[in-house]
Amino acid sequence: MRIIHYLCELNRICAPVPGTPPHIIQKMQKIINSATAERFRQWIEESEQIVLTCHVRPDGDAIGSTLGMFHLLKRLGKRATVVVPDMPPRSLSFLPGFKGISIFTRHEDYCRRLVAEADLIICCDFNDPKRQDALGPVVAESAARKVMVDHHQEPSDFCDITISRPEMSSASELMFRVIAAMGYYMEIDLDSATCLCTGIVTDTRNFSVNCSDPEIYEVLMRLLEKGVDKNRIVREALMAQSLSSLRLQTYALSNKMEIIEPMRAAVITIDADELKRFNYERGDTEGLVNTPLNVRGVISSYFLRQDEDCIKISARSVENFPVSEVCKLFGGGGHLQAAGAEFHGSLEECRRLLLEYLPRFKNFLPSRLEKIE
Ligand code: MN
Repeated sequence: MRIIHYLCELNRICAPVPGTPPHIIQKMQKIINSATAERFRQWIEESEQIVLTCHVRPDGDAIGSTLGMFHLLKRLGKRATVVVPDMPPRSLSFLPGFKGISIFTRHEDYCRRLVAEADLIICCDFNDPKRQDALGPVVAESAARKVMVDHHQEPSDFCDITISRPEMSSASELMFRVIAAMGYYMEIDLDSATCLCTGIVTDTRNFSVNCSDPEIYEVLMRLLEKGVDKNRIVREALMAQSLSSLRLQTYALSNKMEIIEPMRAAVITIDADELKRFNYERGDTEGLVNTPLNVRGVISSYFLRQDEDCIKISARSVENFPVSEVCKLFGGGGHLQAAGAEFHGSLEECRRLLLEYLPRFKNFLPSRLEKIE
């Protein structure tokens, strides 16, 4: 009986279905209000020139969600461009459409013109113009209709339609659901699916965090059905690193990591000289902050890096320890278990403040603590 049921299921999946399969729409509509989806769909239809944009220092999800939607719009015969605040990492250059991305810090006038000429701007994977640096005010002040598709907490009110779902693994997963809810599921081609899948894979670190909702695997399945090469995405967007990056990360972990035992915290500090010594390029320390969490007993991890203009704080945690609240004390924020901030001052002062603040969060530690060894 089971096997027959399974074969029927398989047949249902493989059979060509005209339009978006109703059960997919049904599932997606739980997340996205159908009136909102319909309004967004109408705005896309009415638009002549659409700009897709995302946060500064774009990551796999920022680029995945913008490019994923970009390819869909192309398929619908729309004129669309992706405009990002600054250079995306090389690890994403395998994505279809990557070369066509317009970078504000490189071609400011051109980007300003694109934004000025747009009648619809889709803001992906960010919740506030502040997250776009100098591009922020340009987008916020534009007269175009604006739609936010994002999964960060506390979205600010600068868009005409705000689709904000912090419970989503990634903006890319949310974008897939929005696309399906608008009735465009069948229009998702391999290029679009590849970009969306990249956002999900990078934000969930290949399905190791934020992936408890069973439906995310349905989304993954639908993307794989479109022909996505997930192995390649994992290799290119998640694993690949330069030799100097590997050496810098190894050095940081063996020489620059301190364990704050009472708070079950790991703190890594890297100064500008050390970055120079390892020929640091942006992206070289990507993922480093996660590594200390592999140690049994470590509940939160902080990486403080001395950049040119500020100290960049990255924080990650397990067991729902609120690193977003820790980062708020530095004027930053983010997700409960993945957050960041920028500190203006010396690296040593930043570290000292962090160690001073941490004990305030003692109550958030799990009641049974393991020794770190
Ligand atoms: Mn994201």
